[in-house]
Amino acid sequence: MSEIAHADRAHALLSPSGAHRWLHCTPSARLEATLPDSKTEASRRGELAHEISELKLQKIFSGLPTRSFNASLKKFKGHELYEPIMDDHTNAYVDYIQSIVHTFPSPPYVVIERSVDLTDFVPESSGTSDCIIIGGGKLHVIDYKNGQGVPVPAEDNPQMKLYALGALKAFSLLFPITEVHLAIVQPKVWDQPSEWSLPVADLLAWGESIKPIAQAAFNGEGEYSSGDHCGFCRARINCRARVEHMLDASSLAPLKPPLISWGEVGEVLRKAEGIDKWYKALKEAALAEVLKGGQVAGWKAVEGRGGRDYANMDAAFAHLKEKGIEEAVLYERKPLTPPQLEEALTKKVYKELLEEPGHVIKRAGTPTLAHEDDKRPAITNQVKPEDAFSAPIE
Ligand code: SF4
Repeated sequence: MSEIAHADRAHALLSPSGAHRWLHCTPSARLEATLPDSKTEASRRGELAHEISELKLQKIFSGLPTRSFNASLKKFKGHELYEPIMDDHTNAYVDYIQSIVHTFPSPPYVVIERSVDLTDFVPESSGTSDCIIIGGGKLHVIDYKNGQGVPVPAEDNPQMKLYALGALKAFSLLFPITEVHLAIVQPKVWDQPSEWSLPVADLLAWGESIKPIAQAAFNGEGEYSSGDHCGFCRARINCRARVEHMLDASSLAPLKPPLISWGEVGEVLRKAEGIDKWYKALKEAALAEVLKGGQVAGWKAVEGRGGRDYANMDAAFAHLKEKGIEEAVLYERKPLTPPQLEEALTKKVYKELLEEPGHVIKRAGTPTLAHEDDKRPAITNQVKPEDAFSAPIE
């Protein structure tokens, strides 16, 4: 897998992107620093989308020549993680930035991918803001998020507030700034960016308020505290505080090492078995309760993400064909899988036409964790000595 330049950024121990976590759980940053940072495909895809966004902004605001732009874009589009929808999503981000720029009577100051110094508030910390726009006493800090699983609102967002503090430090001597506007463009989640504003005085007061917390986090002091900030923590799988919080397992007393052992993992897996289904069922019951007007402390029902449907599919497709749209564009043609064909052809015909002539191969199943009394034999990735020595010598 080829590397994406955006991935090369150095991250401070107390990075703005981790602020939600280390502000709530001060020892987490030092603990995370001892654990490997395993990047997911989603995070690498996010880095690629950031590269594409930056390129598009450079063309508009930094005068990147068309030839260089086209060459770089072609390279990004050839990347194995590129997906065509990325073009629409990064366009949405660029369009939003342009719409902000156009609100100013004269061209504002625009900086892209700017590194900001946060050491006035957070020890040894810095970060990179996707886009900063300054003009008419306003500071806009805009961030692109490619993720889909977790919506990230701009309101009271510590990552965004830290970028804004860094931008103030960098530019407030050059530009008078009184208002701060934060925006997160997350096209996979929201049609419109999430926005939030606050006066500069409030931002600076917040910066002062987090200084002792940041110092404790830098020192690795304080209590482990689990919550929704654990989601992207490197310790989230085997963090003792989190396990205790989820299971209320009083037998796993505090003051033990912060990471649970594999022996304890076995016990936790057993205790937590079915917890996901249970949680889902409980959530459904709570939703039904609040929908019928009942109260569930701390919860409410809201409208989920809507979808789109044809008012009349036959009429819509007839209209499209009339307008010259090919039928092949309107329908998806997908091959049936072997189990589906077996069902469609009957077992006998399937066997005669596909299995016996060797048109179907058997794949090994994905490894799955099972109880030790499961009837299937245990498997491992380790090469056994008998297999190693029985391999032919080339
Ligand atoms: S997983 Fe553990 S260390 Fe990480 S933020 Fe949550 S409580 Fe803190």
